Amino acid sequence: MQRFAYLQSQTPAAAAAALAENANALLKAGGVDVLDLLKERIVSPTLIVDISQLPELRTVTVDAEDGTLRIGTLTTFAQIATVGANKTTYTDGGNAQGTYYYRVRAYNGAGDSTYSNTVVVQVQ
Ligand SMILES: Cc1cc2nc3c(=O)[nH]c(=O)nc-3n(C[C@H](O)[C@H](O)[C@H](O)COP(=O)(O)OP(=O)(O)OC[C@H]3O[C@@H](n4cnc5c(N)ncnc54)[C@H](O)[C@@H]3O)c2cc1C
Repeated sequence: MQRFAYLQSQTPAAAAAALAENANALLKAGGVDVLDLLKERIVSPTLIVDISQLPELRTVTVDAEDGTLRIGTLTTFAQIATVGANKTTYTDGGNAQGTYYYRVRAYNGAGDSTYSNTVVVQVQ
């Protein structure tokens, strides 16, 4: 593996500046793909810019004025429940105030279906 510098970004602006200053920099989020790419020498960056510790990039916001939806680049879906056969409802209770995004998929012995469309729920 070729040597590279490593920057643990403290702010989104610092990460953006590092990318702008170094044409051979590579972003790292979780690193699942990046580590394989490095080990296999498919990429040879001189700088790795780690953005995994930036909470600002994990937020999902809806602009109160124009309704613009902004999904942070580190935002992920998390599985919250698996229900039994023939069940068509599930209650996700007790959520704090905020905006939540839900999607569902079916499963059987052969595997999982694709996900449904995403439904947005506002908890006041
Ligand atoms: C062994 C293995 C198993 C996997 N299993 C699954 C699975 O079960 N389900 C599934 O959905 N996926 C799976 N994946 C795919 C993997 O989860 C995705 O590719 C995911 O993008 C990895 O996320 P990460 O945060 O680790 O990305 P990283 O490895 O950190 O980055 C992935 C790529 O995106 C670039 N990048 C990162 N952040 C940004 C950004 N903000 N802007 C622009 N570019 C960026 C990086 O430079 C890199 O090229 C698997 C991959 C591997 C290697």
